[in-house]
Amino acid sequence: MELSQLTELALSVHELLLRRYGPPALKPVKPPLDELIQTILSQNTSDTNSERAYESLRAAYPTWEAVRSAPTEDVAEAIRVGGLGRVKAPRIQSIIAQLEAERGSATLDALRDMPVEEARRYLLSLPGVGPKTAACVLLFSLGMPALPVDTHVHRVSQRVGLIGSSASAEQAHTQLEALVPQGLYYPFHLLMIQHGRTLCKATNPRCSECPLEGLCPFSARQAEG
Ligand code: SF4
Repeated sequence: MELSQLTELALSVHELLLRRYGPPALKPVKPPLDELIQTILSQNTSDTNSERAYESLRAAYPTWEAVRSAPTEDVAEAIRVGGLGRVKAPRIQSIIAQLEAERGSATLDALRDMPVEEARRYLLSLPGVGPKTAACVLLFSLGMPALPVDTHVHRVSQRVGLIGSSASAEQAHTQLEALVPQGLYYPFHLLMIQHGRTLCKATNPRCSECPLEGLCPFSARQAEG
């Protein structure tokens, strides 16, 4: 399919999901380092648990510098409610340490003055930061044109044919950012997540209730199968 046809398809998907779910609620804006750490805490857990882990971490330490200098097991304990504390605690401390070494303090505010691709490259250079986490910081905190592709956005995009069935996470980001209009990145991301959580689940998608059924090749394959 040509890029212009894929953009048409993305616009149709967005419009149909918007009609189904209504305008999505935007997230509160946080400073970029706060958004980065909250996104790391959200890996492999629910929104509720990651929010609890973030609040617990903020309550335990007055500054990000204090998080970096604390014993790693204490930081892991503070974020335990979010799961994988022993993996996420050293990752968070490494990021803060790298910022202090490279930028002189625990802040990502310098990203505000960078072009989006330079800011993305810097975020990707930090320990444990992949394309989705970087895009979350760019979009939610800095208001830059980046489209986070989580597991739901990835799966739904593949099923409706916006990206190929073998597209990697990195390719999915590049391809979707090229075909979805920038002004729709934020609502498109949120609507696709909502759709992936409610109807287009990983197993047993509820195609007969889906507003995208008429345009979805995956649904057609299911019916044939
Ligand atoms: S028709 Fe089925 S597979 Fe396609 S988007 Fe809807 S729920 Fe997902």
